[in-house]
Amino acid sequence: MGVIIKGKPVADAITLALKKDVEDLKLKNITPTIKIVRVGEREDDISYEKAALKRMEKCGIECNVLTLSEDISQNKLIEELNKINEDNAVHGILLFRPLPKHIDENIVKYIIKPEKDIDCFHPINTAKVMEGEKSGFPPCTPSAAIELLKHYGIELKGKKAVVVGRSMVVGKPLAMMLLKEDATVTICHSKTENLSEITSKADILIGAVGKSKMITKDYIKNEAVIIDVGINVDEEGNLSGDVNTEDCLEKSSYITPVPSGVGSVTTAILAKHVVKACRLIIDE
Ligand code: NDP
Repeated sequence: MGVIIKGKPVADAITLALKKDVEDLKLKNITPTIKIVRVGEREDDISYEKAALKRMEKCGIECNVLTLSEDISQNKLIEELNKINEDNAVHGILLFRPLPKHIDENIVKYIIKPEKDIDCFHPINTAKVMEGEKSGFPPCTPSAAIELLKHYGIELKGKKAVVVGRSMVVGKPLAMMLLKEDATVTICHSKTENLSEITSKADILIGAVGKSKMITKDYIKNEAVIIDVGINVDEEGNLSGDVNTEDCLEKSSYITPVPSGVGSVTTAILAKHVVKACRLIIDE
């Protein structure tokens, strides 16, 4: 029978350590500060923003939100981002994505300064993830999955890890981060043939697909560790992951729930990145 491993103890441990760090910085008259930039009123963005505000408050981090109209021009958005880049009181910037369709993310991704880009939008930070270079900012969700595995003492070195999903936000960077931890990594996607044959060889299986309860016990190996990154709404309107948790529980060794799994750790990682960005600036 598997053990359900929740995100809260992981987020609490990170928050506790950060509070101390933030207190130390405040003694030097520096308040770590994040600026959240939201374009439009997407429900997902607003709910993440609320969770982020709560987490920053718990850590003692200053958090300001800049809300911009959905029809803002690309040039005006760039102008706003440049202003924040130049604001020495702001250490980290989170810009919600996807941006409205009339804005070209391939242009905007170069605007936020890499040293303030705390959720890996700028290609320099993406390159650092690929290189396994720790000075950058990997994306918060894959980092949350790694942090969770480490918190529960799950060995990664030499293990077969299979990541289902290859997006730039979750699947690909997470695969690179598992590789950095010396796992042997396979990436699957929508064109993968015989998916269950591949996933059922995984010691560690990551679901980052966006398909409610797609991964059932037929996809997993006995005693596998199952990390569910998916956040979906099932037929009954409830939040669900990519993994059918009830079905897989018996066969797994450890399994993360949805909600209360990886998602609960993400804002704690965001807070950690604000403090890291702040320290990078003062150590310059
Ligand atoms: P994307 O839609 O960008 O990517 C989904 C990936 O899954 C693609 O690589 C796609 O393959 C692959 N895929 C789709 N269908 C199948 C299938 N039937 N079999 C195998 N692979 C498939 O999603 P994201 O990466 O942005 O997000 C993935 C999930 O993680 C979502 O549920 C999202 O809500 C959640 N999420 C959770 C966060 C958190 O904090 N916990 C934060 C961000 C996302 P292909 O490339 O071939 O199209």
